[in-house]
Amino acid sequence: MLIRPKPFVNEFILGYIGRLTHVNLKNTCAETMRNLVSHFELDQEEVTSREHYYQAERYLRALALTSGRTLDEFIFYHSNLPARGLGRESAAAWLNWQMRRKWELGFSGRKPPYLCPECISQQVCDVGISFWHRYHQLDGIYWCPKHKIALLAIDDWFTRPALVPTTAFASLRTATKADDYDNYPVLQIFSEIMVGFLERSLYWSLDRIQECLRRQAISKGLLVENGDVPRVPDDSQFLVDLALSKFPAWWLNEVFDLRSATPSKGRSALNRVFSAEGRTSSASYALALSLLLSAHERDAVLK
Ligand SMILES: [Zn+2]
Repeated sequence: MLIRPKPFVNEFILGYIGRLTHVNLKNTCAETMRNLVSHFELDQEEVTSREHYYQAERYLRALALTSGRTLDEFIFYHSNLPARGLGRESAAAWLNWQMRRKWELGFSGRKPPYLCPECISQQVCDVGISFWHRYHQLDGIYWCPKHKIALLAIDDWFTRPALVPTTAFASLRTATKADDYDNYPVLQIFSEIMVGFLERSLYWSLDRIQECLRRQAISKGLLVENGDVPRVPDDSQFLVDLALSKFPAWWLNEVFDLRSATPSKGRSALNRVFSAEGRTSSASYALALSLLLSAHERDAVLK
């Protein structure tokens, strides 16, 4: 007999798996997921290749059935993948990676989950228990968009069998300064844009956004020839200098890894927001949009 609670509004998928594990008194999340897959008889299907990946796909389908939603709806409402422009094709690969990472103890690149103490109190008051909110796991979000306070992290969560949020084991992320959110108003704009990407993917209108960012950058001093920017050089300092004047340096370095010289990170990844040749992370676009556009212009381009 499996207990199958429905996910709460904006409950993060990994936290939901943790909660299912917790209420069913299982030892591991993988065990819970295997039981759920059996419950819906999804394991009757033959697996011929990519077994890990296929398993994650079945996990997602079982979770969608548990939540009473379609697979696409479940991903849309309970993950941050829409903000990254990723859909169901990428969701299984992402979940497979996340669950495998969790089991590899001491994996250094793993991101711990974050929580807001005020949200936890509110959730306990409203629904009787606490859960992981997906907004708090968005890239670059170090403060609760609702309560405007610093998020806490549970650093050793991978040693715990289930992911149930509690302030008892949580602490302030090393670099986070609690009052930076008030001191740097642009951080609040960045948060609003990131949360907005969950409702409406920026990748739907990327060409328009990139063109608008290029135009604004030129008007704010990005030097170009012939008045156009077909491509901003990877090493251009324009956006980094602008960002350093408006955002806390520790935050920029932590979120965008500015010291990195690899093409997918650092300055070159940031400069790709101007490029018509590809795309970069949604956090990079949120940074550029918050720096280069007024509220009115953002509303117009993100509509
Ligand atoms: Zn909060």
